[in-house]
Amino acid sequence: MTLKERDKKHLWHPLTQHQLHPESIAIVKAEGCTLYDEDGNTYIDAIASWYTCMYGHCNPYITNKVAEQMQTLDQVVFSSLTHEPAVKLSEALIDILPDNQEKIFFSDNGSTSVEVGIKMALQYHFNRNEKRNVLIAFEDGFHGDTFGAMSVSGLSMYNGPFEDFFIEVKRIPTPDGTNNNDILNQLKTISENNKVAAFVYEPLVQGAAAMKMHDAEGLDIILEFCKSQNIITVADEVMTGFGKTGKHFASLHLNNQSDIICLSKALTAGLLPMAITSCSQEIYNAFLSDDITKGFFHGHTYSANPLACTAALAGIELLQSEDIQQNIKRIIASHQAFGGRIKNHPKVAKIRQTGIIFALDLDVQMERYGNLRDQLFKFFMDNGIFLRPLGNTIYILAPYVITDAELEKVYKTIEAALVTL
Ligand SMILES: *Cc1c(COP(=O)(O)O)cnc(C)c1O
Repeated sequence: MTLKERDKKHLWHPLTQHQLHPESIAIVKAEGCTLYDEDGNTYIDAIASWYTCMYGHCNPYITNKVAEQMQTLDQVVFSSLTHEPAVKLSEALIDILPDNQEKIFFSDNGSTSVEVGIKMALQYHFNRNEKRNVLIAFEDGFHGDTFGAMSVSGLSMYNGPFEDFFIEVKRIPTPDGTNNNDILNQLKTISENNKVAAFVYEPLVQGAAAMKMHDAEGLDIILEFCKSQNIITVADEVMTGFGKTGKHFASLHLNNQSDIICLSKALTAGLLPMAITSCSQEIYNAFLSDDITKGFFHGHTYSANPLACTAALAGIELLQSEDIQQNIKRIIASHQAFGGRIKNHPKVAKIRQTGIIFALDLDVQMERYGNLRDQLFKFFMDNGIFLRPLGNTIYILAPYVITDAELEKVYKTIEAALVTL
């Protein structure tokens, strides 16, 4: 029996309606930008396995460091104990994060990094004897699948069964260059009528909303308003972090820095699950007290796992290397050229790009999980490209090490797919 067949017996896949999608493709090996399946087919991983393995799969620089670490210290409790990989990682991260970030708190995945961010913001006010119980978030945001993260997520198709149990959230539209005053008025009304604790947002690019992009200027206006009301700002950089927007973090395109930043996905270069929530000194100080209950009583068993920290450190070293920075510039220019080539295609409604994130909307009606979407996905896989269209949006977010030839193959396959529609 193949893995694909054995899989069906016991496995329950994430974000999957198994009655409609019973089949999974079994991947047996990954190297650089290439995935190998059990039938001998290869696929270019044009979405970097959900934006994680940005330096290529099984990158030997990273795997060697982790293998070495594995011989010395594997796992240890991070309450009352500490270790070199965590210390080094905190130093390396604070070096590249926006200037106001001072403290690093560990968890296990993107959702928990947001959960931690929300809890930090709520307790920040609580510790200062202010009751604030409402959050603000963008329409169509996505922040993960745990309850706090779901509450701030606006993509309701995932939330239906759970909505009755959510934290109270008020939604605002993303800035589009014309609605800044409208958003500001909405914010004023919301903050007059509610005790707002925090604003949680994906800066510049909303990944799960099909790579929806907004401008830094509009976001800066929102952040400035939040600061004036002591509304804690929580930037969810789980998707945008580590170079994808052309800077190390999307927040670095802004004038106003968020109080809290959530990181995961590319943090560990695609090797191990881990997340970080960083914050400013001011947030941290609100938890310092002779009263033990004012501390932050949140912790995961695998917090700051030394192997994951080692992978993250190696990833940050690569991110800062001349080689990767050149690659990022090369991909940005390559996508721009492809955009010019495809934007007037009759099947293309719109193109957009931020850094190495490229997206095109098809001028075709399509449901997020409809048949046409499935047909497109199959076309890409049959042609050796791993791309996952989000409704009628096709996006590319490839590892930084993708070659020009591989990029051209991705572009050509997208162009060929348009002909089939
Ligand atoms: C993927 C993602 C999350 C959730 O991360 P998980 O590791 O899947 O829990 C949260 N926020 C954003 C912006 C994401 O892209």
